[in-house]
Amino acid sequence: MVVIELKDISKSYDEIVALSRFNMRVKTGSITGFVGPNGAGKSTTLRIITGLARTDEGTARLFGIDPYDNPRVKARFGFVSEHDDLYTWASVEESVKLLSRLSRPLKRGITSDVDMAISSVGMSKFKERLVSQLSKGMRQRVKIAAALVHNPELLILDEPMGGLDPLGRRTIMNLLKQLNREEGVTVLVSSHVLEELENYVDRVTLIHRGQTLAEGNPDKIRSFIYTYPHEIIYRARKPAMAKINSQVVKHEDLLRSLSLHIIDDDILECRIVTQNPERFYDELVRISVEENSPILSVDTQSESVEKLFEFLVS
Ligand code: ADP
Repeated sequence: MVVIELKDISKSYDEIVALSRFNMRVKTGSITGFVGPNGAGKSTTLRIITGLARTDEGTARLFGIDPYDNPRVKARFGFVSEHDDLYTWASVEESVKLLSRLSRPLKRGITSDVDMAISSVGMSKFKERLVSQLSKGMRQRVKIAAALVHNPELLILDEPMGGLDPLGRRTIMNLLKQLNREEGVTVLVSSHVLEELENYVDRVTLIHRGQTLAEGNPDKIRSFIYTYPHEIIYRARKPAMAKINSQVVKHEDLLRSLSLHIIDDDILECRIVTQNPERFYDELVRISVEENSPILSVDTQSESVEKLFEFLVS
């Protein structure tokens, strides 16, 4: 069964294309990670899923229904925004009530639901504590409790690990795992760092420049990243280039292709494609030093690949 299905959705803000034929599926009962660098289109996607924005093209379905401005759909999911919109003067209990009321009308029996939600996030002992006295991780748990008050089948979290220390991240990770396993909640969690969620998600959708770059289990995503071809361009004077490349070509395992180009009488440019840019950079620097042959510049052809690489290993 599929809880969220986005098919070829596109969305622009005037001239800016945020999503371009983007696809995603979230299976019932899964924990799915939604990963992409800043500006990739994650928030826009979450706005469409939560019914706050409409697609320009393509179809979005939540529980098989169009989520746009649809209260029936809204009643079935909980959303934890990336913003810390808690009032510092309120207690944990008041905050959960306030936040959950903001998103949905109050219904009867709310007090027991609030208690249960607070208990689900392990905060029962701190019900009376003021938000101003909570750690960042505890505040995050309060936000999650508010999203759980209505007993959602699906919990959507936008960058829940943002600003948390490793202990705080672990607590949230364990909490999401527990909600998924023990309470059967399907979880969709976004992040701009793959590492942050690859230890506990079943599947990952990788978004880049508004498009689906890859979908699969974390191992598949990792191997996709490490086999993604990177083009690296470096320049050196002719004698230096000859010495450097006499060593570079020995690294067959790192090279997918290599070509040389004449820039002027004195300078050559070398373009290589590698699946392991990190190791290639290391080797290039080592060779340049050992051969006493300076490199004039190192560059990468594709800014997008470089950005992708940066966020995934950061
Ligand atoms: P992410 O959440 O991955 O950082 P966003 O969905 O916020 O990505 O942004 C995707 C692209 O759309 C970016 O280029 C961003 O600048 C642009 N964008 C997002 N919201 C707006 C908006 N309200 N108006 C104009 N451009 C926007």
